[in-house]
Amino acid sequence: MEKIFNYINGNFVASVSDEWLDNYEPATGQVYSQLPRSKEQDIENAYSAAKKAFDSWSKLNTEDRSRYLLAIADAIEKRLEEFAQAESKDTGKPIRLARSVDIPRAVANFRFFATAILHAHDEAYDMGKIGFNYVKRKPIGVAGLIAPWNLPLYLLTWKIAPALAVGNTAIAKPSELTPYTAFLLAKVCEEVGLPKGVLNIVHGLGNEAGEAIVNHPHIPVISFTGGTTTGKRIAQNAGKYLKKISLELGGKNPAIIFEDADLQRCVEISTRGAFNNQGQICLCSSRFFIQKNIYDDFKNAFIQKVQTFMPNDPQLESTAMGAIVSEAQFQKVLFYIEKAKKLGGKILCGGKVPDAINERCAKGWFIEPTVIENLDPYCAVNQEEIFGPVVTLTPFETENEVLEYANSVPYGLSAVIWTQNLKRAHLLADQLEAGIIWVNNWMVRDLRTPFGGMKESGIGREGGVEALHFYTESKNIFIGLL
Ligand code: NAD
Repeated sequence: MEKIFNYINGNFVASVSDEWLDNYEPATGQVYSQLPRSKEQDIENAYSAAKKAFDSWSKLNTEDRSRYLLAIADAIEKRLEEFAQAESKDTGKPIRLARSVDIPRAVANFRFFATAILHAHDEAYDMGKIGFNYVKRKPIGVAGLIAPWNLPLYLLTWKIAPALAVGNTAIAKPSELTPYTAFLLAKVCEEVGLPKGVLNIVHGLGNEAGEAIVNHPHIPVISFTGGTTTGKRIAQNAGKYLKKISLELGGKNPAIIFEDADLQRCVEISTRGAFNNQGQICLCSSRFFIQKNIYDDFKNAFIQKVQTFMPNDPQLESTAMGAIVSEAQFQKVLFYIEKAKKLGGKILCGGKVPDAINERCAKGWFIEPTVIENLDPYCAVNQEEIFGPVVTLTPFETENEVLEYANSVPYGLSAVIWTQNLKRAHLLADQLEAGIIWVNNWMVRDLRTPFGGMKESGIGREGGVEALHFYTESKNIFIGLL
């Protein structure tokens, strides 16, 4: 059985206890590798290495740090196909998606922050004759970086790149469900000669390795992406030490479609917005609100398009939808489909496990893309995060009504508005409770923009200058001239 190792102080090691966890391929439901079950002592070892490396890494000049990160980006890009195959196998996502989105974005994350630090400038505030202030930004220390399974390398590197770029060292913990590309990243770090201890990658369970990072008294900064329940627990644990935290959590994102929308384009993009990565993207739209007089037109066109998305073996080039990441997630999605039926929801398409796809995938965790109508906007299926290939359609008449529906959930991550009326788009965007809003598109990302959610979708923002600030402590220095 293939083994994945921790990467601590530049060495590939098993966990101290030598215990192992099984790693499944979602498309087959079979174990194909094992990862270390790391605990407190492993985190302590990673911490010692990161602490030691901090001294020289934080003092390295910006150009040199930038060069290391650019070398990592180049090395991943050179091995893009190997990374993409591994990501697809580990997550169940279509190979096409891993190749076109996940891995290129990991490369872009490193390049973006490697060059951002070359162009950053410091603030100064002139007070005339009295004097002036200038602001120094310093790396904080050893950063704890915890990532989920849905976009494993994409989201892990979204944290690693800025943390290292500004001079921190780090302990990164990938999801125990999708550890493989983080292992490949460790190999890349070794290959490019990243100094030992600058990046340590420790595998294991959330309530063991993850908690050990958050509860470590000398790791002062935690960046976490994952579920809201976990985020609340992390906030509590980190609160004991008043750590700096960034929490990127769950969502229940609305897409609002007005009668003047460009329907063809809207349907084309909305189907991706609903079912890309099997609906397992925190930014996926899961609640579609459609203005009453185009409801049937949208519904018919949407369902017709969704039916072309039927799940298939993720390894095939033509596959648009792959497998659900784990058996637990698979059961959770089916539970919500059943719940929707009990609540009077009408399944317009999908709603079930597809017939066996091929022999290889006979035991894989596949669910057909599912569209449901006739549910109350305030029912559990419309209020709780499912995080799978399930969306609901609800008609509305007025802007006030749809605003009320959209903002009724505890989450506030992203929202989409489809209209040709720019005034309406501006006014509605202003009132929607979401950190990221797209008008007439979905998931267009500019790495310079602030990224994060309101309400129970998180605390803080990542991306661009927000990330550079998050991973530094600012110090204001006043110089008196009197
Ligand atoms: P999760 O919360 O179960 O796990 C995320 C990570 O946290 C994993 O590495 C896990 O091992 C670790 N973890 C679990 N318990 C922990 C604890 N007590 N202390 C420290 N670490 C712990 O989330 P998941 O199921 O992997 O991911 C799905 C969730 O992530 C969804 O809710 C989704 O919306 C959210 N998500 C949010 C964003 C965003 O940017 N807002 C992006 C992607 C995913």
